[in-house]
Amino acid sequence: MIEFKGLKQQYQHLKPEIDRAIQEVLDEGNFINGRQVREFEEQLAQYVGVKHCISCANGTDALSLVLMAWGIGEGDAVFVPDFTFFATAEVVALRGATPVFVDVCSDTFNIDTKKLEESIVAVIKAGRLRPRVIIPVDLFGLPADHIKIAAIAKKYNLLVLEDGAQGLGGSINGKMACSFGDAATTSFFPAKPLGCYGDGGAVFTDDDELAEIVKSLKVHGKGHNKYDNVRVGLNSRLDTIQAAILKVKLKAFKEFELANLHQLLEQINTKISNAINKPVIPHGFTSSVAQYTIKFPNENERNKLKRVLEKHNIPSFIYYPKPLHRQVVFKVRDDMNNTNSVANNLCKTVLSLPFHPYLNDNAIKTVIMTLSEFS
Ligand SMILES: *Cc1c(COP(=O)(O)O)cnc(C)c1O
Repeated sequence: MIEFKGLKQQYQHLKPEIDRAIQEVLDEGNFINGRQVREFEEQLAQYVGVKHCISCANGTDALSLVLMAWGIGEGDAVFVPDFTFFATAEVVALRGATPVFVDVCSDTFNIDTKKLEESIVAVIKAGRLRPRVIIPVDLFGLPADHIKIAAIAKKYNLLVLEDGAQGLGGSINGKMACSFGDAATTSFFPAKPLGCYGDGGAVFTDDDELAEIVKSLKVHGKGHNKYDNVRVGLNSRLDTIQAAILKVKLKAFKEFELANLHQLLEQINTKISNAINKPVIPHGFTSSVAQYTIKFPNENERNKLKRVLEKHNIPSFIYYPKPLHRQVVFKVRDDMNNTNSVANNLCKTVLSLPFHPYLNDNAIKTVIMTLSEFS
């Protein structure tokens, strides 16, 4: 059976180191805030190229912590791509602010900067909400167009929070994902580019003051200590065991996994027929290929291939079956089917294939053969 994300294969490969790392935590007994948490944060901050990496319980909390620190709430508009995982917009609504769903680009699947600016102008014109934040998502491992986004944010005096839950390892002109915007976040959910063996997340920023507030918020709004509480916060920490596992996995990610992913991307891209729309990576960008997602001319063909893959025991997933504007909690906005037609259409036509650094030659051959029979 071909593994979609290769987590079992990865464990077999890294087993001696991971087992040792876990055993060390058990022996040392510091299950919360152990030295591994600090060590991992320092190593990841250095890898990403930011001053502060603050770990927390998951990628959703990471987003929430930043919005809380910035005081985002009722009456605020936060611009998010319409085509992303629910959490990107959920955290906005949880703060009482209003998510504004912006359409995405049909080639990169990331937020469409032209439509972003139109959206901001429309919100200003309507006068009901204060535009405050843009949350660009590095979807499927490809960084959003952070250079254009930064220019728009500056023009309208908005904050940028890069949702790098899927983005870690990607880059733009050598600058790493999770280092863009005023702050960035990531997730260590097992299937993400850098995953742990449970839930985990982190906030990244160069802003000392923001870092201090986030460190306080993640521990019940602590002041001088845990029992001096100066703000209402969360209990959102990364377990020492997860940090220990992540230290091993970060090393593998840096040393060979990411390089293997890039090689695999080349190999698969050249072997898959050009009749199939493959992931687009703009000049100067690199992707950590959190998902290898192909696109079809219509829903029927997509669903047909999904069934063919199933018959060959090849797992595939639809990320995402619904744009945010069609989620019931956001009061299904069918009027947006046209304004956000790209996101709406992608949900019907995309399919993500097995892709990870441990995919062996046989598995690659099987996937490519099945695709070539189809196209
Ligand atoms: C996974 C994900 C999140 C949430 O991360 P969790 O660790 O699962 O809370 C947020 N945004 C995006 C784009 C994601 O893919």
